[in-house]
Amino acid sequence: MTGNNGPFVEVISAEALASRARELGKQLTEEYRDREPVFVGVLHGSLPFLSDLIRQVETPLDVDFLALSRFGEGGKVRIAMDTEISLEGRHVVIVEDIVDTGLTLSYLRRLLETRDVASLATVTLLDKAPRRIVEVPLEYRGFEVGDEFLLGYGLDWEGQYRNLRSIWVVLDLASLQSDSASLGEKVFRAHGDNLTT
Ligand code: 5GP
Repeated sequence: MTGNNGPFVEVISAEALASRARELGKQLTEEYRDREPVFVGVLHGSLPFLSDLIRQVETPLDVDFLALSRFGEGGKVRIAMDTEISLEGRHVVIVEDIVDTGLTLSYLRRLLETRDVASLATVTLLDKAPRRIVEVPLEYRGFEVGDEFLLGYGLDWEGQYRNLRSIWVVLDLASLQSDSASLGEKVFRAHGDNLTT
């Protein structure tokens, strides 16, 4: 842990995130050299990670996005916004913020496999491995995390906090649910304190 500020604790610093993106970028450069991959960011959570990661990959690539919406039981997803680029025959790298139960990624992989891609791999910033309920291939991951609710660097609470530069654990989820405005102020104050120390 890198900081402690009441109900929020910083668990992955901005420096650690940047350093891991550099390492993953290096690995991906080796793997995808001369294959012109398409990096597909899953909106909205992957945005900061995708942005940092692609700038560490030193080989030509395309970037595109898709958005998912959930429906029904068991974590089923459908594509709410599709990629603009055709993925047929392409080396596709799915970029995720976090894999939790694995249901979302497993549906997404099955959907993309029907598109005659040349290859499919996933890079996730965070792997909540203890919560996995379906086996799903994860070729690259930034950090393994425990069973706690995380915020920041793309991860949201009701659409907010994605703009925190590091990753925070919420120790008191009940308070966040009942008093999201005042806790919101606290996390940004804590975030600011960490930036200046
Ligand atoms: P899965 O289908 O793997 O259970 O769910 C993945 C999705 O759950 C992620 O894309 C993310 O939207 C959400 N999620 C899982 N754990 C967390 C977390 O700790 N914090 C936030 N903000 N979202 C999470």
